Amino acid sequence: MIQHLPKPVLIAGAGITGISCAISLRERGVPFRIVNKGRRVGGRMASRAVRGSGTAFDGRVFDTGASYFTVSESQFATVVAELETAGVVQPWTDTFHFADAEGIAGVKAGPMRYRAEGGIRSIVEYLARDLVIEEGEVTAVPAQERLALCMPTPQAARVYPKASELSTAVWEPVISVSMLFDRAHWSSFDGIFVNQDAHITWIANDGARRGDHAPALVVHMSPVLSAGHLVNPSEVIPIAVARIQKILGFDEEPAWSHAHRWTFAKPIEGTTSPTPHFVLGEVSLASDEFSARPRVEAGWLSGRDLGHALAEVR
Ligand SMILES: Cc1cc2nc3c(=O)[nH]c(=O)nc-3n(C[C@H](O)[C@H](O)[C@H](O)COP(=O)(O)OP(=O)(O)OC[C@H]3O[C@@H](n4cnc5c(N)ncnc54)[C@H](O)[C@@H]3O)c2cc1C
Repeated sequence: MIQHLPKPVLIAGAGITGISCAISLRERGVPFRIVNKGRRVGGRMASRAVRGSGTAFDGRVFDTGASYFTVSESQFATVVAELETAGVVQPWTDTFHFADAEGIAGVKAGPMRYRAEGGIRSIVEYLARDLVIEEGEVTAVPAQERLALCMPTPQAARVYPKASELSTAVWEPVISVSMLFDRAHWSSFDGIFVNQDAHITWIANDGARRGDHAPALVVHMSPVLSAGHLVNPSEVIPIAVARIQKILGFDEEPAWSHAHRWTFAKPIEGTTSPTPHFVLGEVSLASDEFSARPRVEAGWLSGRDLGHALAEVR
């Protein structure tokens, strides 16, 4: 009997979704290659090193995209247990503070949030450790491969315009501002959700998150403010500094700061679909947005399920 080889898959995107898809295809013996725009894997799970601060912290990484992740699904829990055993991730906290425009207003318990001592990008780097990633931008549907677009739909639509018809998600931008101080001018905290503030939504204590206790904060600017500063994100730095000074109650300026722009940071709401991916003939889509709760875990599940589906349809 002639056995047909499965048609190879070109995975575009090496964020958690693309890497999860690749692992799933590898397990099922489907040939694939991965092409990623950008030099490093991780996508929105990004960690950026301090450069030129003139402090002892040059080289230290800040998490500029995803802040942490949570776990609810059993297979993802198995992956997280493996990451924990390998020393890549650590349980961080189940309690964050919340604040209003005037200052800290209380604490709130929730699910366990996980952190990565080496920066959140190190999670994707670890999962991708045996994979070959080609650097480049996929710009068209290839003739000889099936194409798996593992990225936010607005980016997928640049390669395959029909992708936008499949998503009802509205994406909001976030500018994240990383700051380094001479010392911690605040009392101990892990993270603060800032409610009803026109300028910022979240403050992470990056020193607590990284475990090195560096005097380091990461602030997420509100979507509306971010949308108005995508061309020149560093304009928001003085606003971020003023807001944390007010909320945390100190006057000192950061020794170093950096603003990073995420044009497609998070969908306001995910696109609900029967599966966490779409297969349209030779082109398929996966990302965190095909879930009621768009987040790291949703990206991993979407990529895994797309890998399963592509292994079925040869
Ligand atoms: C500011 C911020 C805060 C967040 N906070 C949290 C949080 O606290 N907890 C949580 O769980 N989640 C959080 N998230 C969401 C989380 O980061 C995402 O759910 C997850 O990273 C999705 O991964 P992905 O692989 O689907 O997409 P991405 O990480 O966006 O990866 C897509 C990849 O595709 C590449 N790419 C794009 N176009 C092309 C192309 N044409 N050709 C080749 N490659 C291409 C990109 O360069 C990128 O590497 C946050 C995100 C942001 C931005």
